Amino acid sequence: MHAMVLHHPGEALQWEERPTPLPGPAQVRLRVEACAVCRTDLHVVDGDLPVPRLPIVPGHEIVGLVEAVGTDVRSVHVGERVGVAWLAHTCGHCAYCRQGRENLCDTPLFTGHGCDGGFATHVLADAAFCLPLDDLSGNAVHVAPLLCAGLIGWRALRMAGDGATNLGLYGFGAAAHLIAQVARLQGRRVFAFTRAGDVPAQDFARSLGSAWAGASEEPPPEPLDAAIVFAPVGALVPLALQAVRKGGRVVCGGIHMSDIPSFPYRLLWEERQLLSVANLTRRDASEFLRFAARSPLHVETTTYPLQAANEALADLRGGRLQGAAVLLP
Ligand SMILES: [Zn+2]
Ligand SMILES: [Zn+2]
Repeated sequence: MHAMVLHHPGEALQWEERPTPLPGPAQVRLRVEACAVCRTDLHVVDGDLPVPRLPIVPGHEIVGLVEAVGTDVRSVHVGERVGVAWLAHTCGHCAYCRQGRENLCDTPLFTGHGCDGGFATHVLADAAFCLPLDDLSGNAVHVAPLLCAGLIGWRALRMAGDGATNLGLYGFGAAAHLIAQVARLQGRRVFAFTRAGDVPAQDFARSLGSAWAGASEEPPPEPLDAAIVFAPVGALVPLALQAVRKGGRVVCGGIHMSDIPSFPYRLLWEERQLLSVANLTRRDASEFLRFAARSPLHVETTTYPLQAANEALADLRGGRLQGAAVLLP
């Protein structure tokens, strides 16, 4: 098998040949069809997010075909197409796991972080964390971005609250372009905030049904009920708090963010809430994938050959992408 491997944060990934691994008793081996590139991969590669082990193969939006299964695996079969997302494994017995909050497990493993991910031709995965994709139409390229951009966005949208009709999205990348569509289908109105002057992103947001698109520093034309901050920019948090009405919520959807500057208490006053979304649960995945199967979303992608993973990461870093980058082995 081949993989794009990170040896040291801050350095480019290296193309390497490795022996094709055998699945452990509870694992499956996938032949990767497509793996989308998430901003978290960029945080791993750039060293913003410490990783528990090196070298590591990034990538946690994997669509693959099951090629081999471990001796104890009954739930997944050879030839099936499955998805592998960020949540690679949880302990199953800590207080969080027992309460159905496995996203907060005390000893989790994350794909492309604590175990090798999908920037590769093949990958091992825990069978219990493989997501069935049978109901989804569309090819692997269009399904892969659903597995993090879609899933984390879904969890963030749920945390924004059912009552949030006027929804702000700060940063209109892979997650926002999917969640704007979900929000519209749920009858919400989307207000898209981008970097000042990023006319293509604002046009893109309008083309996906946003009621308004403008610069993050601009006040929206009407108060928001909730906002989700997808961009990893702490300075957006006080701006988003300023844009939500009394009792409104601001949800931070990313795993890493630059420091949040200090802000006057009046921005939080009147029962505004500020919260973060961490990881995902398998329940989030089944809910969202069921939604996506019923209501197909337009998934905007730019594809790269697997060996061009560094180029894809550079384009994401430089804000040169619309929608999601997807690697093809
Ligand atoms: Zn646990
Ligand atoms: Zn991700």
